[in-house]
Amino acid sequence: MMGGPGAGKGTQASRLARELGLPHVSTGDLFRANLSQGTELGEKARGYMNGGKLVPDDLVIDMLFDRVSSDDCAAGYLLDGFPRTEAQAESLAARLGDTAVTVINLEVPDEVIVERASGRMLCRGCNAIYHTTFNPPANSGVCDTCGGGLYQRDDDQAEVVRERLVAYHTQTAPVVAWYQARGVVCSVDGNQVPDDVFAACAACLQEAV
Ligand code: ADP
Ligand code: ADP
Ligand code: ZN
Repeated sequence: MMGGPGAGKGTQASRLARELGLPHVSTGDLFRANLSQGTELGEKARGYMNGGKLVPDDLVIDMLFDRVSSDDCAAGYLLDGFPRTEAQAESLAARLGDTAVTVINLEVPDEVIVERASGRMLCRGCNAIYHTTFNPPANSGVCDTCGGGLYQRDDDQAEVVRERLVAYHTQTAPVVAWYQARGVVCSVDGNQVPDDVFAACAACLQEAV
């Protein structure tokens, strides 16, 4: 699942993963778990994340490959937020083969992205994703699913979102082109209501199997 910061990758990936019975593997969630647990990896990643920069490839690739080596990933998995550089795409291709992936590319204009990120709230308990306007919880500050507390990401402040957009356009957009050259990209208009985005993503995967 590819797309800009706040395009809706996590929202769609968690629902698709549930429907497909596959694990949802989000490198952003893995980094945030490392941050909140105070691990060495979390400490290494913190400055990059809070500055809206990409974490160096070797750290990301080791963390991701460690995660997808688990038994629960043996039948496949849904990647959210990886790969974000050509080096990451190359390493995934070396592991899986060049065309063993289907890329869903969520297309959302930058101004919509800024609006989405600025209202995003995450659950501390289960990582569920909310938005103060577009997807509010039933009770303010409380997760509908698990009752956990909701928080705003440090990197969702407007000036950091702008940095993340720069990283997206300079480092990640070329990866979409890299996959397009391999014929594995299904583009989806992400600027629609979530149910319509979901239907389009599901159609991409139907065509792929
Ligand atoms: P977004 O909402 O921008 O999609 P994520 O939760 O996926 O955010 O990622 C948050 C931050 O974690 C990124 O801005 C970056 O610093 C780091 N990160 C996540 N995935 C990667 C990756 N594949 N490569 C490098 N850095 C990453
Ligand atoms: P990403 O994983 O790409 O960073 P998220 O799935 O976390 O994006 O979504 C970013 C924010 O936008 C969240 O607050 C989410 O509730 C909201 N959002 C996601 N999809 C839509 C949509 N189709 N329409 C309106 N808001 C959305
Ligand atoms: Zn929750």
